Amino acid sequence: MGRKLKKGDFVIVVAGKDKGKMGKILRVIPESKRVVVEKINLHYSHERPNPQKGVQGGKVEKELPVHISNVMYYCTNCEKGVRIKYRVLADGRKIRTCGSCGKDLD
Ligand SMILES: [Zn+2]
Repeated sequence: MGRKLKKGDFVIVVAGKDKGKMGKILRVIPESKRVVVEKINLHYSHERPNPQKGVQGGKVEKELPVHISNVMYYCTNCEKGVRIKYRVLADGRKIRTCGSCGKDLD
């Protein structure tokens, strides 16, 4: 598990407050089995203005990591969250395929 998801993958949230929302993976954190997904698990913080760093300050949106068990790869063919399977090519390379429709994902 876990390692199947990559940066740039499109996922759907299957649990928690953002259930049903979709977004692109911005970052994968293998150590904690978490991913940061665009516009998912947003938290707001207030930043102090810092002109020297060009920071305007004010309310800042930030994505917090979500556990990989809370997201699934979104297959555009199936139009739903799917399990990822692997397929081994003739040259030995492994590519990811949709566990539902078999479409190549890589
Ligand atoms: Zn599919």
